[in-house]
Amino acid sequence: MSSTARLVMRSTPRLGESLLGFLLRVSDVNCCTGVPALLRLANLPRTFLTRPCVLKDLASILGGAISLNELEERVYWRAAPKKGIKFVRATVSTVDVNFTHPRVCPACLEEEGIVRQVWDLRVVTACWRHGFYLVDHCSQCGSRLTWRRKRLLQCDCGSELRRQSRDPAPEEVVAFTLLLETQLVNGTNWIDPFPLPLRTLGAICRAIWWFGAELASLERAQPLAISKPRVLVSAKIVERGIECLERWPRSIEELLSQKHLAESNPQSLETTPKHLLYTIRETFRGLHFEPMLDDIRDILGQMEYPTKRNSFYSVRPPKG
Ligand SMILES: [Zn+2]
Ligand SMILES: [Zn+2]
Repeated sequence: MSSTARLVMRSTPRLGESLLGFLLRVSDVNCCTGVPALLRLANLPRTFLTRPCVLKDLASILGGAISLNELEERVYWRAAPKKGIKFVRATVSTVDVNFTHPRVCPACLEEEGIVRQVWDLRVVTACWRHGFYLVDHCSQCGSRLTWRRKRLLQCDCGSELRRQSRDPAPEEVVAFTLLLETQLVNGTNWIDPFPLPLRTLGAICRAIWWFGAELASLERAQPLAISKPRVLVSAKIVERGIECLERWPRSIEELLSQKHLAESNPQSLETTPKHLLYTIRETFRGLHFEPMLDDIRDILGQMEYPTKRNSFYSVRPPKG
């Protein structure tokens, strides 16, 4: 488009603000009807956040408030197959980011009126600034929040998101979220959040979610198949995951013992320890995870588990 319209009221993105949250805020101050309306003005497809496209017209309607470079830094385009997506300075897997269903902290919305990018991470279920769980649905009409809503601070039913209930989150979850955001913003001086040899955000996200879902499904006696469940289920998974990583490597020993017990019970629907180890080996591939796998091998050695130290997995899935 050669002559792009320009929005009258300009706004610059705040530190740590999510791109869609920023666009919805810009839409609000310009009395537009939400992100889809801005995308139409900028000739952009709905998939602009996740699929590479030309953002020039978007930069142009925003009137120079954000440069083309800054825009490209904030989208979630896949770097290359298998490479994941860039999230602030880190690289995470696409499953680690919520693209469609945002989560918000009602207190942050009230005080600062912005949606933070870190809330897009699947493992972030609380706000460390206020200590509350994030909210992903409207308590008035029950619908899940979307980025297609018309107003930043309102559900389309008219209820105020700032007035949603504020439920305190556990201390460990709040502390973890604070550490995560600090590391994302600072990008240097990595502090290991757990006694576990994982050095990247992507690796930590994956381990928390995987072990958390494994432990949460033990409690529910059924696997959690959905990759991006509602925030309360996510919170349960993340809490179990954090607990597991905090007590690492003892937790892996406990998990294996539980599986052993289940194995001796013919009624049990649980997977066997062999299955568990196979799945761990399949899930945690790559250099980032080798030190973690070494820990597991040590535990297997201590438990006198009948596997070779260097390969606790078989190349083919175990039978039964
Ligand atoms: Zn908050
Ligand atoms: Zn509503």
